[in-house]
Amino acid sequence: MKKQESSRQNLTPPAEPEGILLRDAFPILTRKVYGKPLVYLDNGATTQKPHCVIDAITEEYLNVNANVHRGVHYLSQEATRLYEEARETVRAFINARSTSEVIFTRGTTESINLVAATFGEAFMHEGDEVIVTEMEHHSNIVPWQLLQARKGIVLKVCPITDDGLLDLDALPKLFSPRTRLLACTHVSNVLGTVNPVREIIQMAHAHDVPVLIDAAQSVPHMPVDVQALDCDFLAFSGHKVYGPTGIGVLYGKEQWLDKMPPYMGGGEMIGKVSFERTTFNVLPYKFEAGTPDYVAARGLAVALDFVRFIGMDRIAAFEHELGTYAYEQLMQIEGMHIYGPGPSPVISFNLAAHGDGSSFIHHLDLGTLLDRLGIAVRTGHHCAEPLMHRLGIEGTVRASLALYNTKDDIDALVKGINRVRQMF
Ligand code: PMP
Repeated sequence: MKKQESSRQNLTPPAEPEGILLRDAFPILTRKVYGKPLVYLDNGATTQKPHCVIDAITEEYLNVNANVHRGVHYLSQEATRLYEEARETVRAFINARSTSEVIFTRGTTESINLVAATFGEAFMHEGDEVIVTEMEHHSNIVPWQLLQARKGIVLKVCPITDDGLLDLDALPKLFSPRTRLLACTHVSNVLGTVNPVREIIQMAHAHDVPVLIDAAQSVPHMPVDVQALDCDFLAFSGHKVYGPTGIGVLYGKEQWLDKMPPYMGGGEMIGKVSFERTTFNVLPYKFEAGTPDYVAARGLAVALDFVRFIGMDRIAAFEHELGTYAYEQLMQIEGMHIYGPGPSPVISFNLAAHGDGSSFIHHLDLGTLLDRLGIAVRTGHHCAEPLMHRLGIEGTVRASLALYNTKDDIDALVKGINRVRQMF
């Protein structure tokens, strides 16, 4: 494993999760857009990649590349070992009991679709119910609607309060003897709300209802321990946690995964194949048909090592502090309207177009003008149209922070918004 060691030597996170050293780990942050320094505040959509992740990907293609699990030859065995080591890194990172419970997917979306399709196939019938919340991303709504169309299940929606919190008084009333699953986001990608998922899981389990957690926006920002949460399924994406695109994870309790049918058919997920009868592989391979993105899996493992080395608690504390600074600075802008329960590393807002606050500057205009100043923010419905309906708006501008952001980034955003304000 000489090659792997050489790559890991590049994994030298800085002593402090703030400042120039850490930014240095992310080469893209030095680039300019429109001749201006890049201020990257679209981390909820995807994060930038540190050198160690880029190096690991390059090194795997340079030195190791071979298909996994298939070959007797040296490279294939080395690639397989790295792939399975990556699975172990993920297991340890989320504290799963076993690597059998860690399935590599393309991302959160595929992970949730996998559960909807296969858990739905095994355990749901017409009239059975799935509970979701009003603050879900489309990827935790539409897979259930597809199941609704296929099987006639019923979707029940837990509302949010005017403060952008889950309505925990309404939630208990949604359970019925027909409830088969509760699927809920850990952190809202729009409001920044951190849902009390431990309590929600306890409540659901008291009704014998398993829970799927969409952890796309939590795994990159806080410690997540699947055993402590006692969730039944948990999904996240590599690209939002400084890893490559095209790789994600589905964690599932073995007791459920064992009983669920395969998602896709093909190579690797089988035991024996004949035209008469095919048997399936053991976990987790039963759910990994075809050639997996083993290079991205390794990149993800290096990314998780990177954040683990810095410390998820430190990252959470740092981002909370920076989010609080951003919140306070943004709130001082005249006409500013921030959505959600309060300071968080995800800040969605609109800006009044007139002094009387009767209408907002269109979020797309605001985002486009900020872009010309070198500031990358997200605009639109953020794949959460039902939440936009609830808020009575079409979209927002969203600034979302990561561990390499600084107060200077926030100051640039505030200055940019003030400039746009003057133009209107
Ligand atoms: N859930 C949440 C809360 C998200 O923020 C996102 C990405 N914006 C997703 C799911 C989907 O993630 P991906 O596109 O990586 O599958």
